[in-house]
Amino acid sequence: MHELSITQTILDIALKHAGGAPITDIRITIGDLTSMVDDCIQFYWDIISENTNAVGAKLHFNRIPARAKCEACGRDYTLKEEGLLCPHCGSHRVVITAGKEFFVDSIEVQEQNQ
Ligand SMILES: [Zn+2]
Repeated sequence: MHELSITQTILDIALKHAGGAPITDIRITIGDLTSMVDDCIQFYWDIISENTNAVGAKLHFNRIPARAKCEACGRDYTLKEEGLLCPHCGSHRVVITAGKEFFVDSIEVQEQNQ
């Protein structure tokens, strides 16, 4: 995945939901298997959020560790890399259950004083 298009998606979502109000904080959930780098997203963010209502908004990253479940022995375990065999029984029948998440959790906007 390319961080630039991902960052553009985050910006689009945030602006759409803010309804024109200045955005102060954005919380993003990213699974460890997405291979997205926080710093990279932050880098693009600073560029593309310029001249929008989201300029200066703080990005908060919530990382989800990768997990897998073995269909052979039924155990759940933390995955260090994708494609490994089950560490308990050596089976390759493992299903990834967490780590591929990517979504915008919440955005916070500045209160507008009337
Ligand atoms: Zn197993």
